[in-house]
Amino acid sequence: MKTDLNQWLFEIPLSDIQEETYEETGNKNPCICCGKEVKNTKYMVHLLDTGNLISSQEDFQESQGFFPIGNTCKNKLPNNFYFKS
Ligand SMILES: [Zn+2]
Repeated sequence: MKTDLNQWLFEIPLSDIQEETYEETGNKNPCICCGKEVKNTKYMVHLLDTGNLISSQEDFQESQGFFPIGNTCKNKLPNNFYFKS
């Protein structure tokens, strides 16, 4: 029997993927990982109040919402942690 990984919820601390060089650049649409502007948002991550990313698009009480992630940076994440916007 095949197990569908997407039915399980996983969390990753944002600090694990955020780059040390991340800086607030004042961009309107910064990549959550590197802080560079995402010009054409294709992918989003789901951030919780706990500072963890979660592998679900469902709405949670402790959700901070969805934040853009750059095309290159998204590859640092398992593919169940980013969603097409
Ligand atoms: Zn980035």
